[in-house]
Amino acid sequence: MKILYVDLDGVVADFEKGKNNHPLCNVSPYKRRPDKLPGIYENLDPINGAIESVNLLLLSTKFDVYFLSTAPWDNPNAWTHKRLWITKYFDEKLIRKRLILCHHKQLMIGDYLIDDRRFNGASEFKGDWIHYGSENFPNWKSVLNYLGL
Ligand SMILES: [Mg+2]
Repeated sequence: MKILYVDLDGVVADFEKGKNNHPLCNVSPYKRRPDKLPGIYENLDPINGAIESVNLLLLSTKFDVYFLSTAPWDNPNAWTHKRLWITKYFDEKLIRKRLILCHHKQLMIGDYLIDDRRFNGASEFKGDWIHYGSENFPNWKSVLNYLGL
């Protein structure tokens, strides 16, 4: 099986929408650091097609799937909220203990990383970085197509 990592924000969870709907989004210091917004990671909506697509990957015999996300160091509740968020949207049997939170994605051994941003080591990932939201991978349909699903 190929090891495949899936980022959360901007790939599976709609951080952009959650940020814009947060009552403190235009208040300092959150305007510049939306990742510090209180409770921001708790109630994010999923990205269109993401849940269905990740379920296909989880159920596929071709891929060993893990979530690989970064939780803000200065927003410790975010670490808990990300853990709770994935069990809200996915069958726990499929994703139990498959959440990796770190700031150094380049250290992870694996074949694919689906990530919307280059930060926290994503662009230095040793496997194949599937740049979600880029011209080649504008949506989940294009990602699944690339992965042969
Ligand atoms: Mg992201």
